[in-house]
Amino acid sequence: MIPFNKAFMTGKELHYISEAHFNAKLAGDGPFTEHCHSWLEKNSHSARVLLTNSCTAALEMAALLLEIEPGDEVIMPSYTFVSTANAFVLRGAVPVFVDIRPDTLNIDEKLIEEAITSRTKAIVPMHYAGVACEMDMIMAIAGRHGLLVVEDAAQGVMAKYKGKALGSIGDLGAYSFHETKNVISGEGGALLVNRANFIRHAEIIREKGTDRSRFFRGEVDKYTWQSAGSSFLPGELIAAFLWAQLQEADSITQRRLLAWDTYHQYLEPLEAQGLLRRPIIPAECQHNAHMYYILLPEHQDRQAVIDGLKAQQINTVFHYVPLHSSPAGQKLARVYGNMAITDSLSARLIRLPLWVGLSQAQQERLTEVLTNLLKAF
Ligand SMILES: *Cc1c(COP(=O)(O)O)cnc(C)c1O
Repeated sequence: MIPFNKAFMTGKELHYISEAHFNAKLAGDGPFTEHCHSWLEKNSHSARVLLTNSCTAALEMAALLLEIEPGDEVIMPSYTFVSTANAFVLRGAVPVFVDIRPDTLNIDEKLIEEAITSRTKAIVPMHYAGVACEMDMIMAIAGRHGLLVVEDAAQGVMAKYKGKALGSIGDLGAYSFHETKNVISGEGGALLVNRANFIRHAEIIREKGTDRSRFFRGEVDKYTWQSAGSSFLPGELIAAFLWAQLQEADSITQRRLLAWDTYHQYLEPLEAQGLLRRPIIPAECQHNAHMYYILLPEHQDRQAVIDGLKAQQINTVFHYVPLHSSPAGQKLARVYGNMAITDSLSARLIRLPLWVGLSQAQQERLTEVLTNLLKAF
């Protein structure tokens, strides 16, 4: 059986967790959180990185930091995870969906400017599969219209755009360390604060609306309620687990890239025969092999392909039901323009198993089964 995903353990997780246990420092912002913060800051060149309970929590912090208010509009793709939209909907904002690019399945930057109204407050690009959105153009549009940019870089840890870490380019960025991502802590995430003037407020929001972080650094002699906030920080056991993973982040990425490249090579003949389309990585994007997906031709029955693979013990899955066609999306959001590419590609996409430890032999077998299936239709 080839599972779709398999969580990778470095072997050091329990060692660090037992160290945290021994230290008896279990609340957030202890030594392991500090290690993770410094590592992430060094790695991303973000001004300040703060661990959170999830990427969802980091996005909710972002919406609070941007002071999103009822009636504000936030431009984003419909082809994304629910948290991208929920974080802003929780503040009363209206997500405005624009269509995606056919090559990367990322938000089509050429459509963003037309979707801007007097109520638009922010743009939230999501880097699908760890392949960057066209950030230069998105930042230029935001600059022209005085909008803020929050990168949903949940899938983008260790990936780059023109040499810059995903999540570090917009005003704010959000990472996920969920079990299904590349670098994991079960549940977990981080907020990347890329503008120095947001740092103090971000720390306050994360610590229940208090200036406890400054108190711990000895900058104030007591801590008090400063603004609206919540408990967005993970405990030390999660940080200890994550620390083991971050130390191996480079090798995890390299090993995933190797498996990704193998698929890409094995599936080339199928693409040449018009049986599927492989992912496209623009030259300015250095991806992190978060995902390997294929796009089937329009007439192809996707469920039959997934079932056919399943019958041969190979687990594959499709991905997002576009938010604009979901029950909540229809009620809480609005669409700008048509969603032709989102509708078409989301219905034709299959994600293949990709995890550290997936063998070349397994990838060969998958390719063989897939080839037979696609040729039979
Ligand atoms: C995984 C994911 C999230 C949510 O991450 P959590 O850490 O589970 O909250 C948000 N956005 C995108 C695009 C994701 O892939």
